[in-house]
Amino acid sequence: MSRVYNFSAGPAVLPEEVLKEAAAEMLDYKGTGMSVMEMSHRSKAFDEIIKTAEADLREIMNIPDNYKVLFLQGGASQQFAMIPMNLMKNKKAAYIITGQWAKKAYQEAKMYGDAVEVASSADKTFSYIPDCSDLDIPEDADYVYICENNTIYGTKFKELPNTKGHTLVADISSCFLSEPVDVSKYGVIYGGVQKNVGPAGVVIAIVREDLITEDTLPGTPTMLKYKTHADAESLYNTPPCYGIYICGKVFKWIKNMGGLESMKELNEKKAKILYDFLDQSQLFSGTVVAKDRSLMNVPFITGNDEVDAKFIKEAKAAGFENLKGHRSVGGMRASIYNAMPMEGVEKLVDFMKKFEEENK
Ligand SMILES: *Cc1c(COP(=O)(O)O)cnc(C)c1O
Repeated sequence: MSRVYNFSAGPAVLPEEVLKEAAAEMLDYKGTGMSVMEMSHRSKAFDEIIKTAEADLREIMNIPDNYKVLFLQGGASQQFAMIPMNLMKNKKAAYIITGQWAKKAYQEAKMYGDAVEVASSADKTFSYIPDCSDLDIPEDADYVYICENNTIYGTKFKELPNTKGHTLVADISSCFLSEPVDVSKYGVIYGGVQKNVGPAGVVIAIVREDLITEDTLPGTPTMLKYKTHADAESLYNTPPCYGIYICGKVFKWIKNMGGLESMKELNEKKAKILYDFLDQSQLFSGTVVAKDRSLMNVPFITGNDEVDAKFIKEAKAAGFENLKGHRSVGGMRASIYNAMPMEGVEKLVDFMKKFEEENK
């Protein structure tokens, strides 16, 4: 068996310990004589899996009691519709456009009400986070929406926007559990888990209870109401059982690593190795304004498409996978999520140094 260093933006690398545990439990989960994939979502064994996963997530993120944790499906993209359907009481919302995912959420919201763009960094290909300290937010806006870590462009909000008292909604798909967060600052904080937490197929939405009501937009399907899933404790219908089970193992792994403070420290160290190299390199350069750099997604370029392609090809041959940048930006992108070992980043930088020597 040989494993590569996988720099994919998502689905992405998972902790090896978690994969090994899952492999060991594949045929017989804790004496049940079956795999978690094969068991009823109403069984005692699965009840324990989902309850433990929720309890561990609540502990890791320090989630206040007045928030529900919902394990949902449909990808982060389904939240682009669920958020307006459930929250747009005044049919108005403010969107901050810092990349493609924020833009998609904004475009989806427009189908349900008056979504207003209150800030954007489109003028410089989303290479920075706009100043959000004094935005012109409509009085009657139901919420202010951000994509907190921009997976494609590699920027991150280091400071939350001043919402002027409005509910904050955040897509944290690509920074989920990468550092501590103050959940109480958000109305809804959600993410697809396939970037930093688990296998594709699960979305976790953490929703403040007062936002979970029957009063959704007319025609909202039962499955797209937060209340449906909150009332049924994420078991209204068959949930993505196996995915939730793996997420639960990742939560335990994070607890064993020392929680989110330790994750942050580790992630800062890893990112620094790469950014420090990029800052002094004669060949490679980062594409993002330094103060807004993501700890998770690091885009970089050589400035020459042919050299970029050569680098990606040679890196792949050397065991560094998925370094190609998003099709909309080109160049390279190294996603260095929680489960990417320090050694993976160190070896990548060594490889980049060597490539630079050979291609000066
Ligand atoms: C990947 C990603 C999405 C889309 O996720 P899907 O689960 O494929 O719908 C949305 N937002 C962010 C920030 C992402 O990184």
